[in-house]
Amino acid sequence: MAAASAIDGCNQLFLVAYGILESENIESWTWFLNGLYEAIGLPNGLVLASDRQKRLEEAICRVYPSVEHRTCVRHMYKNFKKKFRGKSLQKSVWAAARSYTIEDLGKKPEIWSRSQFSTVCKCDYITNNISEAFNAWVAEARERPVLDLLDTIKQKIMVTMDKRRRMAIKWNDDIVPSVKKYVRNLSRGLAAYEVQRGSDSKAEVSYKGQRCEVLLTDGICSCRKWQVSGIPCVHAMSFIFSIRGAKWEEYVDLYFSVEKTGVAYNLEIAPMPDISQWISNGQLDGLLPPLSRRLTGRPKKNRISAADEIKFGYKYWSFRIVIDSILIFGCLATNIGALGL
Ligand SMILES: [Zn+2]
Repeated sequence: MAAASAIDGCNQLFLVAYGILESENIESWTWFLNGLYEAIGLPNGLVLASDRQKRLEEAICRVYPSVEHRTCVRHMYKNFKKKFRGKSLQKSVWAAARSYTIEDLGKKPEIWSRSQFSTVCKCDYITNNISEAFNAWVAEARERPVLDLLDTIKQKIMVTMDKRRRMAIKWNDDIVPSVKKYVRNLSRGLAAYEVQRGSDSKAEVSYKGQRCEVLLTDGICSCRKWQVSGIPCVHAMSFIFSIRGAKWEEYVDLYFSVEKTGVAYNLEIAPMPDISQWISNGQLDGLLPPLSRRLTGRPKKNRISAADEIKFGYKYWSFRIVIDSILIFGCLATNIGALGL
């Protein structure tokens, strides 16, 4: 099974597309991505993230040649440590991945560091953990026959869309609760930041001898965190909070607005009757299952995890081998209404 997942403004999984692949070859991935292209097209700022599997990577080059393709740093590190071992190198890789500026890092050919992320899609995720969340989401259905599996996923999407739609209606606010909580926590430490105003919209903000330049009307801080994540960084927040009457909500990207979350979940998925009540269109009559190829050895069920891999305590680690996902960023807030899912 292949799935394309996205993240909504509340950091929740939003399933965009899923399908059954014949196998993980280039043709199957190309078929899947062509279907994805038909559904969502090429929204402004679209970013794809994957584990950089060779065949998926080639298929992405075919179908989405111009799209920013990020690499999950956890998977990248798995390959890296085959040649370069040691705790300090491990720390350096993760520190580099979390850096928002090139000055912190130095240029790298692959996009696995925030310093290389474009700033349109407003997502600073450096791993594909949300794909793992999808695996956890479908865990209970994974052993079922294909039609049952697809039906269960459809049902889950239907229920989730409804639940989140009702939730968004209840939020009598401009910005989603998770961002409000983040700002509340951030605001507690702002007293330690020194703001030197240059004008109503420009300032230098210093902390422990380090200084950033904030340009409010452009939505820019020289630390780049605001541009990449879509939420004002601690420097921008310090400046905003120092201005009498200024509202921080006005500086958060629309992606995190309650209004856009409502739009994302506005689509109702139609209920379906039981398979015994389906009407045949004749196309499947006489259709035989595809020839199955048996690989050498006993079929693997458990995914072999690396010794230093982060464990999340979910069961999904045991079946990741049968479910592959790619991650989509950036198309959600502005385009989900047109997805037709
Ligand atoms: Zn900043």
